[in-house]
Amino acid sequence: MIFLQGCPLRCSFCHNPDSWSTTAGQLCTAESVLEKISRFSAYSSSNGGVTISGGEPLFQPCFLLELLFGLKLRGINTAIDTSGWPHQLENDCLLTAILAQTDLLLLDIKSPDSAEYKLLTGTESTGRDHVIYSAIICQTSTWLRHVVLPGLNTSSEAISKLANWIYEQHKLGLKMEKVSLLPYHRLGLHKYEELGLKYSLRDMPAMSDNEMDQYKQKLNRTLASIMPDIPLAIE
Ligand code: SF4
Repeated sequence: MIFLQGCPLRCSFCHNPDSWSTTAGQLCTAESVLEKISRFSAYSSSNGGVTISGGEPLFQPCFLLELLFGLKLRGINTAIDTSGWPHQLENDCLLTAILAQTDLLLLDIKSPDSAEYKLLTGTESTGRDHVIYSAIICQTSTWLRHVVLPGLNTSSEAISKLANWIYEQHKLGLKMEKVSLLPYHRLGLHKYEELGLKYSLRDMPAMSDNEMDQYKQKLNRTLASIMPDIPLAIE
């Protein structure tokens, strides 16, 4: 895992507010990171690889591209873990080049509803959609991720909206392999206190295992009724 510092989003459920700042972290060149990775020779002889996460990796697109190129040149599998924030990319070519060097796209959906997306993240969902279009062009294997927030996106209506959104992406041509459901937790709360930041979900309880099981079953059933012939792992 490589964590790139800096994120322009402000997700209300973020448990890593310490990754937001662009001035924290260690400055380094892509070349020096690649050198370090090369020392872990086990990667090149196994099915493993390198996942570049954040913060938001697309916030540093040129560095990210250089890193991905270097990894692919060394025969190392690549994954990027992103919320899909390409607003600062100068042109589609850069984003397409990044996704063409990415073996696996881990994309956090945030919300299938654009108004709720803005409410939860403080930014528009058009960036994420842009990443999806580029992933379709590149036919990048994609695992969708979704944070399940008790009482906020757990209603039958919300599950139905999510399932329909997933089906829409499939119809558009996104090469989806999996949907990973991430239960909301409160482990990052102390970081907000340490950084003197307001935590807007202070009263929201963590998702219990039982609630998660029920949610997963409902989503599975809803997806099976909408897209019965399309295999999609939900975990
Ligand atoms: S995109 Fe990730 S790092 Fe950025 S605010 Fe949201 S959850 Fe936090």
